[in-house]
Amino acid sequence: MTILGKLRSLIGDRFAIDLGTANTLIYTKSGGIVLDEPSVVALNQKNGGSILAVGRKAKEMCGRTGDNIKTVRPMKDGVIADFDVTRAMIRHFIKTTLPRRRLSRSTMMACVPSGITSVEMKAVIDSAIQCGAGTVHLIEEPMAAAIGSRLPINEVTGSMVVDIGGGTTEVAVISQYAIAYSESLRVAGDEMDEAIRRYIRREHGLAIGSFEAERIKIAAGSAWPLSAPEETDASGIDVTTGIPRVIKVTSEMTREALEGPVKAIVESIRKALAKSSPELAADITRRGIVLAGGGSLLKGLGPRLHAETDLAIYRAKDPLTAVVRGTGYALDHYKILKQVCLN
Ligand code: ADP
Ligand code: MG
Repeated sequence: MTILGKLRSLIGDRFAIDLGTANTLIYTKSGGIVLDEPSVVALNQKNGGSILAVGRKAKEMCGRTGDNIKTVRPMKDGVIADFDVTRAMIRHFIKTTLPRRRLSRSTMMACVPSGITSVEMKAVIDSAIQCGAGTVHLIEEPMAAAIGSRLPINEVTGSMVVDIGGGTTEVAVISQYAIAYSESLRVAGDEMDEAIRRYIRREHGLAIGSFEAERIKIAAGSAWPLSAPEETDASGIDVTTGIPRVIKVTSEMTREALEGPVKAIVESIRKALAKSSPELAADITRRGIVLAGGGSLLKGLGPRLHAETDLAIYRAKDPLTAVVRGTGYALDHYKILKQVCLN
């Protein structure tokens, strides 16, 4: 073993984890993003809920299996909803990506929604320890998103970051390593999928699955008129005849469908601006808003938010990985870790 290797085995591994409602990511300094999988677990109902598949494989099973197989998303609204399944999922992900023998000496840094209760925080720490982690640090998600988006959080200036995930949209104002304002809105990517589902059923009498709705959102979803509108097929079951049918879905149709969730995000941003001090509001007016999270990839969202707020809107580079990269950066830089660590 090299001297560096020896030293590393002594101090143990360090890794960052973003346990999202839609996706779980793990980052290590040496390997970068070593895991990026849906936060989904497939359970066999027959033999007391043993685990059949985790991640991508489990997500593929959703809506495609018989009664004896159940697919669950153990994270809800940004927090652990199913303790046992979450632990099994973390264990599986860690086992497949990190060498097990060093786990007991490892330091794990996990992000949690801002404003979670101490009980919820303890649940995350306990889960991580039971999965074998030696030390667990916590960081608030908007802080991690801001670091991952390279916002100057060390400066005495207000930055606004909006992280649109699967279950929640976190709107936060950060200045000098502190969260001056935050709101966790329970409207994000999942609600957009549901809105598309409801719209297609209501307007076209077609029942579609939630994964089909997500696919339509990614392929043709929009929040603002696009210069190059998209179109995609939606396959489902006719609600009156019960026969499978396919219709064309255009960006214009999705814009109508997504109006509710998009409006809720706009309102949440407006509220954050209204509740910020005049100084912070002036900083944000000067510097604009940074978007992160998978939901920020919705086409036309930037132009729509600009039209609604008159502020400059930027999207983080690689918004789906911004939170885990920010968490990892904080873990690797002691000066920052000291400032932002919650526990
Ligand atoms: P979480 O942190 O809650 O796990 P993510 O930041 O991983 O969430 O984002 C997941 C959400 O982003 C999902 O709802 C997914 O459908 C959505 N998403 C991913 N890519 C796109 C896209 N190109 N357009 C619109 N939404 C997207
Ligand atoms: Mg997230």
